[in-house]
Amino acid sequence: MADYLTDNFSLQEMIRSSYATRMGLDNTPTRKQRQNLVKVCGVLENVRDILGGRALFVSSGLRKGKVNDGQGGARNSVHKLGLAADLDNLPGGNYEAFLEIAPYVQREELPIDQIIGEFFIQDEPRAGWIHIGLARGGGEPRYQILRAAKVRGRTRYSVWADPWSLA
Ligand SMILES: [Zn+2]
Repeated sequence: MADYLTDNFSLQEMIRSSYATRMGLDNTPTRKQRQNLVKVCGVLENVRDILGGRALFVSSGLRKGKVNDGQGGARNSVHKLGLAADLDNLPGGNYEAFLEIAPYVQREELPIDQIIGEFFIQDEPRAGWIHIGLARGGGEPRYQILRAAKVRGRTRYSVWADPWSLA
């Protein structure tokens, strides 16, 4: 039987990493990381409801130190702690899904520290992904809505204001 952290999200989908598998790196959660993943999955259940109750694809959850750094994750990424999930291949498109979720963060109705629209492209529903991160150490979420874009080869994060237009 699959090990489920919440009704719809399994441990396996929150820890799998093709990079870790290829490189033979351990990505097994510690007890604390597993607890953090359960919190993330609780938020993902709410996101799933907002998006109509359809299955969500988690492209990355926990990325322990070497896995995160090797995959090019930010050095201080909360993925290292098991406090984040990336969502991809979302029903109706990644950017469109972001537009549905962001207002809940803006109204502080989802306990999300940072939601980041990562590398969306206009009219390319499969481009980019959504990063959802929770606050470290059980702290209060900041409800930040950000976008990430490549500027001259470097990733730049900026505050994304309503309306969350790609233009
Ligand atoms: Zn992420």
